[in-house]
Formats: sequence, structure tokens, C-alpha cells
Amino acid sequence: MKPGAQDVQADVSDPLHERLTSYAGRPAATAGTGKDPVNLPMIRHWCEAMGDTSAAYRGPDAVAPPAMLQAWTMRGLCADPEPDDGTGRSAAYDELLGLLDGAGYTSVVATDCEQEYLRPLRPGDRITFDAVIEAVSRRKTTKLGTGYFVTTRMDVHANGEPAGTHRFRFLKYRPAQRKTAKPESEPPLRPRPVINRDNAGFWAGVAEHRLLIQRCTGCATLRFPWLPGCNACAGQEWDTVEAGGEGTVFSHVVMHHPSFPAFDPSGEGGPYAVALIELAEGVRILGNVVGVPYDKVRVGLPVRLEFLRTDPDLELPVFRASEGG
Ligand SMILES: [Zn+2]
Repeated sequence: MKPGAQDVQADVSDPLHERLTSYAGRPAATAGTGKDPVNLPMIRHWCEAMGDTSAAYRGPDAVAPPAMLQAWTMRGLCADPEPDDGTGRSAAYDELLGLLDGAGYTSVVATDCEQEYLRPLRPGDRITFDAVIEAVSRRKTTKLGTGYFVTTRMDVHANGEPAGTHRFRFLKYRPAQRKTAKPESEPPLRPRPVINRDNAGFWAGVAEHRLLIQRCTGCATLRFPWLPGCNACAGQEWDTVEAGGEGTVFSHVVMHHPSFPAFDPSGEGGPYAVALIELAEGVRILGNVVGVPYDKVRVGLPVRLEFLRTDPDLELPVFRASEGG
């Protein structure tokens, strides 16, 4: 095969790529402004988050960590939607993304960035920036899906002087179809429990609708979840006691994301509560609270054990709120 033959073919078969590359060299942002001047509190928070204890970033002669370059240009999660919001974002950039969205490349993932530092940033420096659409790749297929890599280059200025360059690349793509996707009509299934020699007795109990707690025969300490030995006396002999079924919510979280329909009682993937239940016997177990909406689960809520068949091959202990929440 002649070198480059594939490239020529790609050009011919991909008119979208031609349209996309016509945006190369056009501005992505013009006359953007940093929301805050370079300042010590943001530097301190960054250093805390990164675990960077360098003395260069503290005290009266502090400079900003160079890798914060982009941070000074970001508008935050609650960016002002007004046209003069300081992002300087160009119409050309919005058009480019609109073309990709319109062609079905609706997902986005940041892939890499390169920065060059031209001068240190110091508290009080006022940040301005311009950005250009540098390149759009040919269509590529990745594990995430097929799409185009878009590279932008932002030139950052401090008090009008060049301070650094931030080159940013992202993939705008059409998500790959999951090979294991099931027809819509099949109910989503929960993950299967891992059953092994150490916990098989627990699952055997569940099959008989009994919640079994291990008890050390040496020191009578109860333990849950099931373990091969006793944490109190290291004894390896044990028997079981059956939980009476009464308990209270010791702690809980509400899962909002990612959506997982199998865990939502409505099957729609909405929020659901995961609770740590303290059984009357004193041990704690993780499980779902049923019988109340997820936002009515609270610490101290009395619950009672029952067994829920989540699908033909799985039953699980769950906890029904014994009051209205
Ligand atoms: Zn023991």
C-alpha cells in the first residue's frame, strides 16, 4: 500500500472533517478575563487539595503554583450566562461544537493538556486570555466511541504580559453501543454477590429467610460481615445466631449518580438510599430501606428485616421502615 493512501481515502469519505478543519485558526475565546485576580486563598486551597507543601506558595513572596494556570481562567460551576460573562467564548467555537453535536458526536471527554509557563503569577496579578481553535483531528475510533479530537490553545496574560500557554485537547464523540446491551423489556439486574467459603453460610441462611450472624465460640463476640476468625480473640471456631430482625438506621447515603435502575425500587434509576442498619443484636449490616421514599430515610429510623426477591435468581435481606419515616 502506498503511504498516505488511507489518509486520502479518509478525506474523501469524511466531508464533516473538512468542515470542522475550516475552524482551525479561528478564535475559541477573545478577551476573556479571570474572575478573580491571582490570590492567596485560592493558592492555599489548591495546595491543600494537591498536598503541595512547597514554601514557594506561602508567605509575603508567594507565587502561584504554575500548574494553576488554567484555574485563573475558569468561571466556576455557576458561570454567569450573560454574553459578557468573561469567558470570551467565540461564536466560531460554539458553531464547531454545534456541528459535532448535530452530527451525533454529543459526548465529550477531556483527554490531555500541555502548559508552558512564561512568567510566575503573583497575588494581585490580573488575568486575561485569548484562545484559538488549533486543530481538529481526523475521525478516530476509541474505546469510548468514534469522534474527533479538538485542540485549543489559550494564551494567558498577567497584567498584560504573556504568562503562559494552556493547550487543551478533548474528544467529542458518539458513544459506542454496549455489546451487552439488553432489550428494554428485560428488567435490570443487581450485581451477583460473591459467595465463597467464608460467607457461604450467610447466603445459605438468606435462602431460608434467616439472617445469620457469626458468633465466636471462644469469647461469644458476634461479628458481621462474616469473617474466618474472631477480631476480639483470634479464635477460629464459630457458630451462628439468627437475627431477630429488629434494627435501626445507624447511617445512610442517598445515591444520585450514577443511575442504576436495579437499585431503585421504581426501576427507573432514580435516587435510592443505602443504609447501615444496626441490628438489635449490636452488629451492623448494609442494605436498602424499603417502604419509605429515599428522602425519608433518617438516622434512628426503626426498621424490620424482610427478604426481597430482586429477580428470579437473587434474594436479599432488606429493611422495611416500621413507621412512616
Ligand atoms: Zn472470640
